Amino acid sequence: MPNIIFIAPPAAGKGTQSDMLKEKYNMVHISVGDLLRHEVDSGSPVGEHVKELMNKGLLVDNSIVYELLRNRLHKSDCDQGYILDGFPRNLEQAHVFEEISEELNRQVDYVIFLDIDKEIAMQRITGRVSCPNCGTVYNEYYDTFNTPGLCNKCHANLEKRSDDNVETFNQRFDTYITKTQPVIDYYKEKGVLHIVDSSINKEYTFTQIERIIGAKKW
Ligand code: ADP
Repeated sequence: MPNIIFIAPPAAGKGTQSDMLKEKYNMVHISVGDLLRHEVDSGSPVGEHVKELMNKGLLVDNSIVYELLRNRLHKSDCDQGYILDGFPRNLEQAHVFEEISEELNRQVDYVIFLDIDKEIAMQRITGRVSCPNCGTVYNEYYDTFNTPGLCNKCHANLEKRSDDNVETFNQRFDTYITKTQPVIDYYKEKGVLHIVDSSINKEYTFTQIERIIGAKKW
């Protein structure tokens, strides 16, 4: 299976599309945001520092991100390909990722840019809730719940991310414009960038992605 990178503004649907690919094609999904949230939950001193940055909508230090990512990518389940969601987010990370990929002897096959307007992303942020138990992400405005406030799959209480508020969203969006947009141009020049409209709904976005990566032929 291919190696896929998702790049997008906050709340464009990287996590949702990754989960859909994981479920349908049994792909490995690595979310750098989740790796960082895991570090926060561990209560370590590094986790405390990470929490502060995430709650401000700023990028976490590259060195912390590299260590978490390297450890994850070296696990054997990544040998058959993976989906990387939320990395690289700045040009330095893109360059270091070249080195990591060489170490692993794997190349980037597809970089998928999920395109969405700031206004639509903002609406999605304010409705986003997720299950702390199984990780399923929902939107309070668009999804139907068997029991309000509970996960449809495992019935745990749904939670809101602490950085999903209007103020932090605005900062995350600014960080995306200044730091992450140059990464999109970097991959465009390398000829591996694919642009997908992520503003309609998750099913439409998914169909476009399946077409790009030729998933139906696997
Ligand atoms: P979103 O893309 O919606 O902002 P993520 O879960 O991908 O959500 O990221 C949440 C936060 O985690 C970011 O705002 C940032 O603080 C941190 N983060 C995620 N990926 C990276 C990365 N590659 N480098 C630095 N910080 C990151």
